[in-house]
Amino acid sequence: MLKAGLVGLPNVGKSTLFNALTKSKKAEAANYPFCTIDPNIGIIAVADKRLEELAKISKSIKTIPAAIEIVDIAGLVKGASQGEGLGNQFLGHIREVDAILLILRCFEGTEVHHITGRVDPVKDLDILLTELSLADYSTIEKQFEKVKKSASAKGKNLVDPSLLEKASHFLGKGIPLFSLNLDPQEMNQLKRLSLLTTKPILLVCNVDENELSLGEKNPLVHKVIDYIKTHPFYDYVILSAQLESDLNDLDSEEKREYLQSLGLKDSGCDQLVQKVYKLLGLRTFFTTGPKETRAWTIHAGDTAPKAAGVIHSDFERGFIAAECLRFEDFVFFGSFAKAKEAGKLRIEGKDYVIADGEIVEFRFNV
Ligand code: GDP
Repeated sequence: MLKAGLVGLPNVGKSTLFNALTKSKKAEAANYPFCTIDPNIGIIAVADKRLEELAKISKSIKTIPAAIEIVDIAGLVKGASQGEGLGNQFLGHIREVDAILLILRCFEGTEVHHITGRVDPVKDLDILLTELSLADYSTIEKQFEKVKKSASAKGKNLVDPSLLEKASHFLGKGIPLFSLNLDPQEMNQLKRLSLLTTKPILLVCNVDENELSLGEKNPLVHKVIDYIKTHPFYDYVILSAQLESDLNDLDSEEKREYLQSLGLKDSGCDQLVQKVYKLLGLRTFFTTGPKETRAWTIHAGDTAPKAAGVIHSDFERGFIAAECLRFEDFVFFGSFAKAKEAGKLRIEGKDYVIADGEIVEFRFNV
């Protein structure tokens, strides 16, 4: 299961957001047996209206959404790369996630102490990126030492020494690797070193609940957006962790009305999860029947056997074909059988790339 880590300076609303996310979107752990259960890890469901629609048509007993793991990674302070705060332990946790959600405090409030003395999300962002970059710098330097010591042939090295030199040059200036426009082959080499700044980052602007309706006009959010204009590799989401937490006390109809009164279609938690999906280049396919309707997560470009392997490795090994139906066709005809009669069911082979939203049944040898 893919993991996203909540990272930020102290007092920016990480725990509030983590609790809101895991409470409102908590997925039944029993459906995801390979996940670790830890107080700082939550398995959260990915909201998808298509799933509900399919379950209704199939009259499924059970509905299982796609899910991602969210990890609350406390402890980043200025100097973390030099061992301040939780230092290495904290950085180790970030190494394990697939995407980093950087929480930026965009709410004032005199009663809530902020670590740097005043609220400045861009300064916070700078501290965070510098710490992550310096941690990578030290990883790269160690790798350099190894290369020099072994004096091995170029082909034997984990990463090309000239690439190490280039990465080290930028990281030393606090510039994260994902901002360098490296070609995919270079990026893949660097990823072998479990670096932090090769991971995709989403900026989460945490605003005061009373200022949520201001959206991008909020002056603190505006600062972040101005920053993004000159650093266009970031995506962002605006939410209020406090409001997300309050929403958990409402039933779904009250929640919908409340969000509507704020001019919002989806809750901040839903927007966040959708952005993580996009950030990681993820896609969904469905399986559906009277027993259960389920959403499965794959990567953009995954072929049919790879998608089959997400359900079970035996499906991938013994893959014969995938019977595929577009979501709209399933909804229109109401079943695989009727869609087949109408000639809408496609039988696809091992090179077929599964499209987002398809309903799939796999044929396989056991
Ligand atoms: P952490 O240290 O980053 O985990 O921060 P916490 O989640 O503990 O929040 C720090 C303080 O900020 C708490 O007093 C929260 O109630 C407050 N806080 C967090 N999110 C919001 C928000 O969206 N609006 C307001 N007004 N306060 C918030």
